Amino acid sequence: MTVERILAAKGRDVVTTAPSKRVADAVATLARRRIGALVVVEDGDRIVGIVSERDIVRLIATKDADALEQPVSAIMTKSVVTCNEGETIDSVMARMTRGRFRHLPVVGEGRLRGIVSIGDVVKARIEQVEHEAEEMRAYIATA
Ligand code: AMP
Repeated sequence: MTVERILAAKGRDVVTTAPSKRVADAVATLARRRIGALVVVEDGDRIVGIVSERDIVRLIATKDADALEQPVSAIMTKSVVTCNEGETIDSVMARMTRGRFRHLPVVGEGRLRGIVSIGDVVKARIEQVEHEAEEMRAYIATA
């Protein structure tokens, strides 16, 4: 199964923010949209970073009174690891595990095409395993 199949099922909507936005705005968006990360873009959909709830937890731990007034650019991860639609679930799972992050923006021809989270990947993997088990049961029943 590929990233393309995951996007076909969940959609290609990516919630983004801008590097100049306040962290407080990013927090409000994460809460309102019930998601764990925002892709940071400039000039439409050029990826310049990613900010996740983990970056915000780290920021709050500094106990800086003005923490949430800082721009997103101050806390985002700038070197964003991405994937493309043709990649397999196993490949993106391995990349998330190695990088210790739970979100991978999907890019194609230099454009943002979607995003997959660890939740999407695990769901797809479970469906795949269930499908294989079902096929195995059907095969044994007819043997
Ligand atoms: P997450 O597990 O996705 O909440 O993110 C954990 C940490 O990795 C945070 O510092 C994020 O900014 C960073 N991060 C999340 N996704 C990516 C990604 N695709 N590429 C690079 N860093 C990321």
